[in-house]
Amino acid sequence: MIVFDLECSQGHVFEGWFDSLESFEQQNVKNLVCCPYCDDANIRRLMSPVAIKRSHPDIRKPLDPIDYQRLAREVVNYIQDNFEDVGSKFAGEALKIHYGVSEKRNIRGSATSEEEKSLKEEGIEFFKVPVPKIDDDADKKN
Ligand SMILES: [Zn+2]
Repeated sequence: MIVFDLECSQGHVFEGWFDSLESFEQQNVKNLVCCPYCDDANIRRLMSPVAIKRSHPDIRKPLDPIDYQRLAREVVNYIQDNFEDVGSKFAGEALKIHYGVSEKRNIRGSATSEEEKSLKEEGIEFFKVPVPKIDDDADKKN
């Protein structure tokens, strides 16, 4: 909700609460906003204290909802482009890289929970990616 200071053509000043500036303007165009003192529908918005009220820390603008589906797709796309797919050999490769047997690089793949446990015990850092269902699943190699 946003509070606006409004003034009718007779000079009466009053406050009006609206969902948004747009909401006020739509209602005002239809003459739905009336002066509480004289019922005048010829209302204009006073600019004065509104800007201060809106930026007050108590009136927080809600954050835009995060599109998790899109975010997940971007993460997956990034990983597919930048990580070598070692499939089910993930745990073995991670160990080889950890011990310098294999070249240090980004790898991706799958691991069983047993393998995950032993990787953790070796102190190997990895992260799990919740893979969303992707349309081009057909050309998946493993
Ligand atoms: Zn009035």
